Amino acid sequence: MDFGFSREEEAFREEVRTFLEKEVTSGLREETESGLGWGPHTWEFIGKLGARGWLTPTWPKEYGGLALPPIYRFIMHEELNYSGALPNEGLVVGAGVAGPTIMMYGSEEQKQKYLLPIARGKIEFALGYTEPQAGSDLASLQMRAEEKEDHYLFNGQKVFNTRCHFAQYHWIAVRTDPNVPKHKGISLFIVDMSSPGIAVAPLWGLDGIRTNEVFYDNVKVPKENLVGEKNKGFLYTVTALEFERVLSVGGLKKTLEELVEYIKTVPSLRQDSTVRQKVSQIATEIEIARLFAYRLAWLQQNRIVANYEAAASKLFTSELSQRMTAAGMEILGLLGMLQRDSGKAPLDGKIENLCRETLLNTIAGGTSEVMRNIIATRGVDLPR
Ligand SMILES: Cc1cc2nc3c(=O)[nH]c(=O)nc-3n(C[C@H](O)[C@H](O)[C@H](O)COP(=O)(O)OP(=O)(O)OC[C@H]3O[C@@H](n4cnc5c(N)ncnc54)[C@H](O)[C@@H]3O)c2cc1C
Repeated sequence: MDFGFSREEEAFREEVRTFLEKEVTSGLREETESGLGWGPHTWEFIGKLGARGWLTPTWPKEYGGLALPPIYRFIMHEELNYSGALPNEGLVVGAGVAGPTIMMYGSEEQKQKYLLPIARGKIEFALGYTEPQAGSDLASLQMRAEEKEDHYLFNGQKVFNTRCHFAQYHWIAVRTDPNVPKHKGISLFIVDMSSPGIAVAPLWGLDGIRTNEVFYDNVKVPKENLVGEKNKGFLYTVTALEFERVLSVGGLKKTLEELVEYIKTVPSLRQDSTVRQKVSQIATEIEIARLFAYRLAWLQQNRIVANYEAAASKLFTSELSQRMTAAGMEILGLLGMLQRDSGKAPLDGKIENLCRETLLNTIAGGTSEVMRNIIATRGVDLPR
């Protein structure tokens, strides 16, 4: 059993950390905290990561990657997450979901057109899965794409599509055959967000972060934008969700460090035994979550299917983020309720913000109940 990172991996982590210390500017932080999505600072930052091949460290060099093992992607994610540089825990949909799927199932033209711009941070995708009546049960989605002579005609609605107001492309799952069992009639497409007939309306989260409703009204999508085979999209989206699951505790660790620093400055808190109990409990749980994340990275590194382990890790870490926030609020007392711009908020209002933000962690990317269902069937072998 070897719990360490190699010398090369540690050197890579150090290089990334030094880069982030310099490049995570106040402008970038403001954009991240604004909840409005990627602005000019974020695009510039993404471009710098892309120029180094750091958005896609595991991709082949011909597509703009560095051909490194999966553990490097994990290290990159952990450091990004710790730095708080990007919203959504540092997830980039093009590099994390669309690109790997195109590489596995896409046409040669799609590989040539999208992979290098994704790797260099020039384009981004928005995930287009959820509909008002289809979230956890994604196979129930109804948005239609009818096959015409030289295009597909899209009509319908998506909801909670987070990046649609700034991404150039929609990575979208639609129904192409309504007459077969529901998961066998879905296809995956890439849609240019500037296509006529697409309307995007903001939907604001409790945390002030913008997501969107997206409406398609007779939108013509070229046939070459179909990813892989027609009606195989459900399989591809499930595979793509596996790519999405890179988990790390960088952000949790950072918040705990900030909380401890604050506690040290307040005499009534730093000697309080209840405060010590709470902080120690959270520190222990972060260590558990970190080991979960490392195990997942190791399984991916060794190409072992890890959907139950990924579900367990997502479940524990997302619920831990809420437990940590609750502990933070109890420790800070009434001051914890002050918001960022109040001028008097401890940790610059971070705990108050996390109270709203972490609620979403147990919904987005698969709810806790869905994660428990996966563990029940694939982890402990209960019947479906
Ligand atoms: C901030 C945020 C960002 C998001 N971004 C995107 C995005 O970019 N693109 C995108 O496509 N989607 C996005 N989503 C949507 C997200 O994937 C869905 O919200 C999620 O899958 C849950 O679906 P739902 O909201 O329809 O809830 P439902 O599926 O209706 O679930 C409602 C409740 O029922 C429970 N439940 C459902 N099925 C079961 C079951 N079989 N067993 C036990 N309990 C069950 C759920 O756990 C939940 O508590 C985002 C959501 C949020 C909150």
